[in-house]
Amino acid sequence: IYILGIESSCDETAASVVKNGREVLSNVISSQIALHTLYGGVVPEIASRKHIEKINQVIEQALADAHVTLDDITAIAVTYGPGLVGALLVGVSEAKAISFATGIPLVGVHHIEGHISANFIENKELEPPFICLVASGGHSHLVVVKDYGEYEIIGRTRDDAAGEAFDKVARAIGLGYPGGPKIDKVSKEGNPDAIHFPRAAVAENEYDFSFSGLKSAVLNYLNGCQMKGESYNQADVAASFQKAVVDVLVSHSLHAVKAYGLNKFAIAGGVASNSSLRAAFEEECGKRNIAFYHPSPIFCTDNAAMIGVAGYYEYIKGVRSGYDLNAVPNLKLGER
Ligand code: ATP
Ligand code: MG
Ligand code: FE
Repeated sequence: IYILGIESSCDETAASVVKNGREVLSNVISSQIALHTLYGGVVPEIASRKHIEKINQVIEQALADAHVTLDDITAIAVTYGPGLVGALLVGVSEAKAISFATGIPLVGVHHIEGHISANFIENKELEPPFICLVASGGHSHLVVVKDYGEYEIIGRTRDDAAGEAFDKVARAIGLGYPGGPKIDKVSKEGNPDAIHFPRAAVAENEYDFSFSGLKSAVLNYLNGCQMKGESYNQADVAASFQKAVVDVLVSHSLHAVKAYGLNKFAIAGGVASNSSLRAAFEEECGKRNIAFYHPSPIFCTDNAAMIGVAGYYEYIKGVRSGYDLNAVPNLKLGER
C-alpha cells in the first residue's frame, strides 16, 4: 500500500510517499520560514499564496524521489485541520483534484494525529497503547493513544502552547523567529539555574499546562533589568526559561505514564526536537524503566510523511473522505 501524504496546514508545503504505513520513500518539505522571518511570524495570506505556488512541484518531487507515479498510489492522505484555513484549503483542494482526476481514494487526516504517528516511522516496534506528549506551535496535549486513530486527550494547555511560548520568549530576548531552535541553541551557553522562573500547575487538572504565566515572568524579568539599567544575559534567560518548560512537560508526562499504568511514552510536535527536553526524558524514563520514543527532528516539525503514516492507518480501517472534504481550522483530535 502506497500513500501519498500532503501537508499545508501552516508554513510548510510538504508531500511524501509512504509504503505500508512505516516506510518513508520520500519526504519533500518546502519551508516558508525565510519568507515569514521578515514579519516575525507566519502571515496567513502570504502562506496560502506560497502553498499554491509550491504544491504541484512538491508533489511531483515526492513521487519522483520515491520512484513511483500516481498509478502506484493506493490512497491520498491530506491534512484537513487544524491549521490556517487558507493554507489548509490549498492541500485539500489539490488532494481532491488529484483524487477526482485519477479515482484514487481520499483520506482526510488530523494534523496532530500526523505528529503522533511520526513516531511509527523510526520505531518499527512501537504499537499502541502508549502515552504521547504533543508539544508543537499550536498545541500542548497529553494524549493516551489507545489504538491506531483512537485518542483520549487527558491534558491540554489553558493558554499558550509550548512552542508558542518558545517563539514569544525568543522574540523578547532578540533571537527572532522561529524561536524554538534558537533558544535550544543559545541555551547550551547559558546557566539553566541562573534565574528561577515559575513552573505552573493547573489546580483542576494535574495534566493541564499553562505557559502564559511563565512567558510573563520572563517579560517582567527583562523589564526589571531595563528599569535598573542593567543588561541581562541572553543565554541564561533562554536556558532558565527552557528548563522551566522542560520541567513541567516532564513532570506532567511521567505522572500520566504512571497513573495510566503504561510503560511506553512518546513525544511529538516541533518542540519534541528540543535537545534538552529529549535529554530529560531519556534520563527520567531510563530511571523508571519506561520505553521512550521520539521522532528525528525532521519528522517532529511539519512534514507530510507523518500524514502518510496516519493516513495509512485510517485507510486500512476503511476511512474514506468524499469530495465534500473541507478545511476545518479548529478540528478536534479524534473527531471527523
Ligand atoms: P501545530 O502542529 O500545533 O498546528 P505547528 O505545525 O506550527 O503547530 P510544529 O511545526 O509542530 O508547529 O512546530 C513548530 C514549533 O516547534 C514552533 O513553535 C517552534 O519554535 C518549535 N520548535 C521547533 N524546534 C524546536 C526546538 N529545538 N526547541 C523548542 N521548540 C522548537
Ligand atoms: Mg511550521
Ligand atoms: Fe504541526
